Amino acid sequence: MSFVSDDRIKLIKGDITKVKVDAIVNAANSSLLGGGGVDGAIHRAGGPEILEECRKIRSKQGGCKTGEAVITTAGKLQARYVIHTVGPVWNGGRSNEEYLLRSCYRKSLELAVKNDVKSIAFPNISTGVYRFPKELAAKIAIDEVSNFLKENNSIEQVIFVCFDNENYEIYSKLLK
Ligand code: ADP
Repeated sequence: MSFVSDDRIKLIKGDITKVKVDAIVNAANSSLLGGGGVDGAIHRAGGPEILEECRKIRSKQGGCKTGEAVITTAGKLQARYVIHTVGPVWNGGRSNEEYLLRSCYRKSLELAVKNDVKSIAFPNISTGVYRFPKELAAKIAIDEVSNFLKENNSIEQVIFVCFDNENYEIYSKLLK
């Protein structure tokens, strides 16, 4: 993996629900019915409209598969959209986890482009209760986003939002 740094990539530490962007990405679970961690924070801050749209998507297509993404309103949040993607649960690395995590970033960016999103914020998908090793997850996230941006000129800003210190330190080092 090579880390070509792109000036459209930014790093911040904090709460993703507070970030001013067109779309924020949620590390959802496949039920789309909400959970803890960043998912809980997004639904709490955005209000019931988000869950209502998630339920509609669920009744149409039965939730969201690991590595896939869906888009809803952002409710009361400043963002226009929430892109819900389902990261893989870490299972020792023998269950296609790396491929699936890459897919989360790529599919989220594809959905963003389709919806004319210019700025997007990502949490550190799968690195909470799904236990994906943080350094490997960060390398995958940065690599996949950089590759996407090389082929795309419509996205103006991608922000990695780290909530915990450990992730923030890892990203700082990799993006230096
Ligand atoms: P997953 O199930 O994909 O592991 P989690 O929500 O448990 O999802 O964790 C994903 C990451 O989101 C973790 O690194 C956690 O520190 C981070 N996180 C938790 N709350 C927030 C928040 N409000 N804003 C941004 N990131 C958050």
